[in-house]
Order: sequence, then structure tokens, then C-alpha cells
Amino acid sequence: MKSKEMTPMMKEYVRTKEQYKDCILFYRLGDFYEMFFEDAKLVSKELELTLTGKDCGLDERAPMCGIPYHAVDGYLNRLVSNGHKVAICEQVEDPKLAKGLVKREVIKIVTPGTNMSVQALDESKNNYIMCIVCTADKYGISIADISTGDYLVTEVENQRKLLDEITKFTPTEIICNQSFLVSGVDIEDLKQRFGTSIYGLEDWYFDDDLCKRTLKEQFETDSLEGLGLKDYNCGVIAAGAILQYFKETQKTSLSNFTRLVPYVTGKYMVLDSSTRRNLELTETMREKNKRGSLLWVLDKTKTAMGARLLRNYLEQPLIELEEIEKRQEAIEELNANVISREEIREYLNPVYDMERLSSRISYQSANPRDLISFKSSLSMIPPIKYLLNSFQSPLMRELHDSLDELEDVCSLIDRAIMDDPPLVIKDGGIIKEGYNEEIDRLRKAKTEGKQWLSELEAREREKTGIKNLRIKYNKVFGYYLEVTNSYKDMVPDYYMRKQTLTNAERYITPELKELEDVILGAEDKLFSMEYNLFTDVRETISKEVLRIQTTARALAAIDVFTSLAFVAEKNDYVRPKMNSRGIIDIKNGRHPVVEKMMQNDLFIANDTYLDNGNHRVSIITGPNMAGKSTYMRQTALIVLMAQVGSFVPADSAKIGICDRIFTRVGASDDLASGQSTFMVEMTEVANILRNATSNSLLILDEIGRGTSTFDGLSIAWAVVEHISNSRLLGAKTLFATHYHELTELEGKLAGVNNYCIAVKEKGDDIVFLRKIVKGGADKSYGIQVAKLAGVPDSVIERAKELVDELSNADITATVREIQAVGSKNKPKAKKYDQVDLEQISLFDTVSDEDILKELDEIDVSTLTPIDALNTIYRLQNRL
Ligand code: ADP
Repeated sequence: MKSKEMTPMMKEYVRTKEQYKDCILFYRLGDFYEMFFEDAKLVSKELELTLTGKDCGLDERAPMCGIPYHAVDGYLNRLVSNGHKVAICEQVEDPKLAKGLVKREVIKIVTPGTNMSVQALDESKNNYIMCIVCTADKYGISIADISTGDYLVTEVENQRKLLDEITKFTPTEIICNQSFLVSGVDIEDLKQRFGTSIYGLEDWYFDDDLCKRTLKEQFETDSLEGLGLKDYNCGVIAAGAILQYFKETQKTSLSNFTRLVPYVTGKYMVLDSSTRRNLELTETMREKNKRGSLLWVLDKTKTAMGARLLRNYLEQPLIELEEIEKRQEAIEELNANVISREEIREYLNPVYDMERLSSRISYQSANPRDLISFKSSLSMIPPIKYLLNSFQSPLMRELHDSLDELEDVCSLIDRAIMDDPPLVIKDGGIIKEGYNEEIDRLRKAKTEGKQWLSELEAREREKTGIKNLRIKYNKVFGYYLEVTNSYKDMVPDYYMRKQTLTNAERYITPELKELEDVILGAEDKLFSMEYNLFTDVRETISKEVLRIQTTARALAAIDVFTSLAFVAEKNDYVRPKMNSRGIIDIKNGRHPVVEKMMQNDLFIANDTYLDNGNHRVSIITGPNMAGKSTYMRQTALIVLMAQVGSFVPADSAKIGICDRIFTRVGASDDLASGQSTFMVEMTEVANILRNATSNSLLILDEIGRGTSTFDGLSIAWAVVEHISNSRLLGAKTLFATHYHELTELEGKLAGVNNYCIAVKEKGDDIVFLRKIVKGGADKSYGIQVAKLAGVPDSVIERAKELVDELSNADITATVREIQAVGSKNKPKAKKYDQVDLEQISLFDTVSDEDILKELDEIDVSTLTPIDALNTIYRLQNRL
């Protein structure tokens, strides 16, 4: 590109673009944002805009596309949500006053994690950006939400824990140092799995001194120790870098970041990404809907802030008994005072998103209507605080004390801002009468001017005899007298023609001009004064951001607890009794979501008992569709809800606090990763066996289903042995299986018990009773279930024939073999780096006694000829 030949404007464009190479540059030209060259090609394609060209001084025209400035939000949001960064370059001087080129500057860079647009944000979710600093031995992590001022820091020592944090926060944008990009983490996989944008930043962002200085300046402190950051060497870098990044992109002060919260990951229950998905905490597995998730049942919050906080609570169940009980007490107290609770909820109803409003106030993007919403939200605080006054539980007291009524802010807005102001901030109509004398005076002049105008109109009509003479106004010509063509001849000489229309003429007179100057002069002055006063008010409020945030957070928590209490009451939940002894004892537990999805109260409640002694592992059998996985998930969800602090769907519950919940459920839909279903299953099993502790709760559904029966059964068997053995793992486990053979383990392995979900046979059909009972299922009822599902009769009949032929065949023998070997060698203390398929070779030895025993057991009188032949053939092969 020969830039010396370019027009001056284009040269300027190219110079700016050079500085923002990684961004799409929105270049303001009059009423449009224009894009040129490669940006134009890309944007025109993504947004389906017409690609045109602009003469730029070179031989070829520059590819160009444009977006009208008033519609910029929608286009911008689409580009940003597609993962682009957009630099907005504005005219920073009035084109009318500019000498030569209008001065332009990039005023802001919008990225997925820094987008503050109300349209783009989901109000029930935080929009997190995460900064990851990868060092030799750990990862520093900082997480922030610029729209709310949330700002956290932590450190983790390995990749798995890092992934847990990413899963927990699901940031829309990750920024990182270059080392992270080459640390072996699969960046593309992260991008796909979480739909996040990942940008490696230049090294200077992570400069130790700069980061520390930035933090100290932000929090106006001399030492980071005071902020509780002493032990977060690389966390501090991440936190500093994220602030640097905000400064670079927002180009304004970051006053809404009033505190940095260090947290230790060990404070919360560990939930890996597949467990979060499987338990459908915040969205369903298939459709990714909130409806059908646990959040859907629990979220009866009234405010956006409450909705976000509840989601955060669900993502991070607690593991400290006292903290859990504190929340429970609050809920209990709220339910003992239902009238106050409901009154509080009523007052919360009209409360706007104060967190995001206060951020918009800080970033000077709040408009007058935002301030009115803010005021009406603030006016709800005193009654809420008053109601909270009578609460005694420690958490409710804390929340009461954190509520600042912010009367000063409320009364400032009340005095200064009109009750129903316009959205635009430059056309007046914002400042209330009585707030400022000069404004009142100008407004009067403006109104009087209008009065003079109508007097002038009446006078001119009289003087000229033109009956329909009118004084009108438009933005281009200002005030004018309009005369329709039929009266044209009566127009006096001193009227000066301004414009001719098809059916009328427009004129001005010296007198009208004079009046116009007075009126418009007053108006101009009024509008600019109103604007300035409005920004002053906004500025004054933004100084109170810390108080506002503290109050907003308290309101969010009040919303969460009143919602949890409301849900507990409506759904008949009970307060679980927490313990640290590992005992889970649920009486008549229900699945919180399935029971809600069922039309008529048909959900059958079930008990669960697990402990660290004789009831570590429950092997659950029963036909497909009996309700095994519902039962297991229900247990996991009840434990999780309890640790969130919520009440639970049961008649009573004792919950031993779990450090982690792991689930391995059904066929995972992790097809994007390009691994086979079985490989995914085994990777998850390996992960569980390696990371679970004796305080974990494991939900394992149909382990080994993805391979041949023989392998599958062997793997499932070996896994149960490993888990149940307290010297190896000893985790509390619900293990559903269709290998009935595993029921043989009860009595042989300590801590293993059989349960099945009862079904009743009714002739050829079965009825699901949905009740869990002690003991193993003796049949699989696969054919009956297939029949229920509508498989054609002919196929069902043929399947029945085949079952008769095949039953008692290979699989029975397999179990015998496993048992024979098992009694000699088990348990084997072995570390499971990957699931050990070598185990299978252990099952090769078969004794003649077994064959003789089997021969002995054959009932010849019922054997068909074909069965007899098959049996002989099989036995021969085993000799
Ligand atoms: P399985 O895992 O044994 O194949 P599921 O747990 O998927 O069976 O349950 C199958 C269906 O049965 C569920 O979709 C649910 O509608 C119903 N169900 C399960 N448990 C219960 C219960 N306790 N009460 C009523 N219906 C239930």
C-alpha cells in the first residue's frame, strides 16, 4: 500500500488502525461508523452489510462498509459476541469548528468480556472476564465483571483445578500471558467448550511492578498486604493485568472496582465440568435451557442481582458446616416470619439491577431514566431495612447492617431529576424545577418566547389577512412563517422568502428572526446547562459507589434467601441436619426437578442411606426406565442443595458434608472432543478414581456399558472393588448397573449393599413401582421395556425366543469365572492411572469342577435340542 498517495483522512485512518491491529476499527465519519480494507470485508460478511468503496487517493478504491451511529449497538454486540474486539474511534471535536481534519480518537475498545451494553448482557448472569497467569508451578487467576464491579483473585496449582475454575465462572473472555498459550492447555477446546474468546496479551501487562502499582493506585493503599493479597504472588499479577486491560480498553477510571476478593478454591465443593452438566445445575444437558435445571426450580428471586447471586451459589456449594448452617438459619427464620418475608419480596419486586446501574453511573453511561430507576430502587430500601430489623439470625443481622439507605443519593436524584425524563441527554427536559435558578430562568424565557411567538402569529395574521398563516419550526430553517399557495398574493414585502414547497411558501421577518435568536439562544444554553448539571449529579453519585455496591450486594443476598425460603415452603422442603461424620440419611427424598416436571403429584419418594462404614457403596439394579438415574441424581442434588444452604425435598435429611461430587452418567455427549464414547467414559472414570476422596460422593451410572459385556462387567467389577475398599478410596457411591452379576459383591466386599428399584410383573407386562428396596433385581425386563417403548410385536416375539436360547449362556459362566478369581486375589491395591484392562487376564483360569457343577445343574427335561448342542459346544471350548 503506497500510503504517501493516500488522502490525509485515509492516512490518519491507517495510522490509527496500526495502533489497534487486533481490533475492528469503527471510524466515525459524520453520522456513520465506517470500516475500511480488511475490516470492511470481514464486517460486511459477518453482518451482511453492503461492501462499497471509498476513494482514498490510491488507484483502487478502499473497500468500505458503514453502520449508522444511532444503530451501532446491535451491530457492535453481534461482532463482539462473535469474539471480535471493536475499537471505537470518535470525532472528538465539533466538525463545524475544526480547522482541517476533524480530530478523532479511539475512546473505547469493546471486547466480549468488557461489553457493558444492556442489550448484550443477560441480566441473570455475570459477564466474567478471566485473566490467567501461567508460571512454572502455578496459575494466578483473576476474575472480574466490569458490569457489576465483582473482582476476585485466586491461585491454583494444576491444570485440572484451573479448568474447574473456568467451568465455574464460564468467562466470555480469557486474557492470559504468552506462557499460558504454550502450556499444553488445549486452547481451541477451551474456546469451543465454553464459547469463550482467548487473547494472549503482551508481556508488559504482566510486569510485576506495574501490576502491583496499578493495584495500589486502584485501592489507594501503600501495601497489598492490607488487601489480603500477601500469599497471592501470581494472583496479584493476574489481578493487576486485568485492571491494566480495563484501563486500555475502557480508557476511563475504574471506580466501580472497589474491592478485590481473594478466595481459596478449597472453600467450596469441587464440581468438575461433566458433573455440573450431568446434574443440570443451571441448564439442561440437551437443550441448554434453564427450564428443567435445578436453578429453574430454586430461582424465585425478584431482582437480576439476586438471580445472579443464586446462580453463583449453586455453582459454588459450601463445605464449611458453620457457613452452611448460617444460611439455613436465615431461611428458617424467614419461614418463621412468612408475612415479613413476603413483604420483603414485594419491596424487592420493583428494585432494578442496582449493581449494573451503579457501574453505568461510574462509567458515565447512565442516562436520566437510569437515575430515576435508581431512585425508585433506593426508595425500597428503608422499608426492607425496617422489616429486617426484627430478624435475629446472624446472617440476617449482617444483611440488615449492610443496607445503607442512601438517603443522600435518593434525595439528590429526587431534587434534581425530572420524574419522567427523556432517554436522550442533550435535549433538555432533565432537570427539575427549583433545583437551579438559572435553569428555571432560561426555561421561563423559552416558554415566554413561545408565548411571544403565538402573539406574533396572531398579529401577522391580522395585519396581512392571511387566515391560515402559521409560525412553524424545523431543525434546518429554524422558525418561519408558512403561507399556503392560495394566500401567496397577500404576502407583504417585508416577508423574506426562505423556501418554496409545492403547496406553500416559507418566510422569515426581522422580528421573527430576533425572537428566534432569543428562544433558541435560551434553549441552547438551557440544554447545555441541563446536560452539565445532569453529569454533575451522576458524578456525585458515582463517588458513593462503594456504599451503593455494598447495599446492592446485601439486597441480592436478601433476595436469594427470601427466594430459597419461599421455594422451601412452597415445595415442602425440610432443613437438612448437617454433619461432618459422613452420614447421609435421607428419608423420603424427592428429585427437585422431576417432581416439578410431573403433572400430578405422582413422584414416588425414596430413602437414601450412605455412610463411611458398612454403607459406602450401593449397587442399584433394576430395568431400564425403573428410575435408577433419577434416584441417584436426586441424592446428589439433595446433597448439593444442602451445601448451598438450601432446604431439601425430603421428609427429613441428615447430610454429611461432601468435599466433591462426581458423576459419571450415561453416554456423554462430548462428541465435539472427537473421542469415542467409551474413551470419554473411561477418561471420566480415571478422573474420578484419581481425584475422589473418602469424603466424596460418587454417582456412577452404567459403568462399562460402552464396551463388550465381558470387558464391561470386568471393569465395573474392578471399579466397585477399588471404590469400596477404604484403604484405596472408600468413597460414598451410588452405582447403577445393568450387570446383575455385580449383586454378588454384597457380603463379599465390605461396605457394599444391593438395592433395586421395584417393578411388578403383570402378565407379560411390567409396572414400575419406582420404589427403591433392599436386594438385587433378578431380571432385566429388557423385552418388556422394549414393548412399552412400542417396538413391533414381531420383533418382541423373536427377542423372547432368543432370550430363551441364550440365557444361562456365556455371561453366567463369566461371573463364575470372576468369582473364582476374585476370591483368590482381591482386593488388589493398585493405583488407577488408567482403567486397567489387564485385569481381564486374571479371569482366564477355570477349574473342571466348575464345568462339572454346571453340567450337574442342567435340567435335561426342559432343554431344547438346540440348547443342548450349544451347551456341549460351550463346555467343550472351556476344557
Ligand atoms: P433408569 O435410569 O432406571 O433407566 P430413569 O431414572 O431415567 O430410569 O427414570 C425413567 C423415568 O421414570 C423418568 O423420566 C421419570 O419420569 C420416571 N421416574 C423416575 N423416578 C421416579 C419416581 N421416583 N417417581 C415417579 N417417576 C419417576
